[in-house]
Amino acid sequence: MKATPVIAIHGGAGTILRQAMNAETEGRYHTALTVILSAGQRVLADGGSALDAVTEAVRLLEDCPLFNAGHGAVFTAAGTHELDASVMDGATLEAGAISCVTRVKNPVLAARRVLDVSDHVMFTAAGAEAFAAAQGLEFVDPSYFYTEARYQQWQKARGTSGTMLDHDATTKFAFPNGAGDTNDAGDPIDPDKKFGTVGAVALDASGHLAAATSTGGITNKQAGRVGDAPLIGAGCYANDATCAVSTTGTGEMFMRMLAAYDVSAQMEYRGVSLAEASDDVVMNKLPRIEGRGGLVAVDAKGNVVLPFNTEGMYRGFARVGEAPVTAIYR
Ligand code: ASP
Repeated sequence: MKATPVIAIHGGAGTILRQAMNAETEGRYHTALTVILSAGQRVLADGGSALDAVTEAVRLLEDCPLFNAGHGAVFTAAGTHELDASVMDGATLEAGAISCVTRVKNPVLAARRVLDVSDHVMFTAAGAEAFAAAQGLEFVDPSYFYTEARYQQWQKARGTSGTMLDHDATTKFAFPNGAGDTNDAGDPIDPDKKFGTVGAVALDASGHLAAATSTGGITNKQAGRVGDAPLIGAGCYANDATCAVSTTGTGEMFMRMLAAYDVSAQMEYRGVSLAEASDDVVMNKLPRIEGRGGLVAVDAKGNVVLPFNTEGMYRGFARVGEAPVTAIYR
């Protein structure tokens, strides 16, 4: 029997900001996640591909200022926005990615065009923008990515540059320049301890898997720094034979761990379940190198997992024909 099509998304992981926990702010996040899951679910219900469903879900997450991707992306140390995105088709193992773009409105659409039309897998910076322009994608003035909340958080991050943003005594990780992703002031997850990348994974009616990931990176990141999100195998991976994975967290550790691919490889080589493989990566292997964050993943049987080793992760999933399920905390 064929598994029911399903989509799962994340909007970043981090430490819960206890004083911000109130019904109203939580409600905004639940609503955004539900609306976006419903859109992805519709694509799947209409017989659309997993690839189309994840592309659409991540496009909507990029447009939503609550999340650190597209509109609402974080600031670099230079006061700019540099965006990264990737997408992978589990049916063909084709992939597309772009990094360090500053004017492409929806980076995930550029990544998707790379997958669809290019012989290459990844373009960066000026070359990526030239590719996107040649594909007729929408460009915006860099000010489009500006949000006041992100600006304030950048100012705060700059003030602590070179030190750890220590609002959480249990948190050992800090980027070398003190950067940590930040989100808007009403964010239930501590803005200084949150990784706000967005991502989606899906299984479609034909049994195909796909994954997509998009990010502004980490607040106050050095110009030119690229994290795991656009790297196939680190922040994004899909293979019909195993699973589809999208990650969020301390990108450098996810890169060193090839986190997304490791979930797939453990299933393939060790023959373990999706749950066991993803748990090992998120709860065991990443913490060993102080990797913080989580992932969403789905396998060809329709099993969905959303593990994270932080206090919270914006997340949810929706099976066709069923109400979307969303969550923030453990
Ligand atoms: N993984 C992303 C990066 O390192 C950050 C995030 O998940 O928010 O760029």
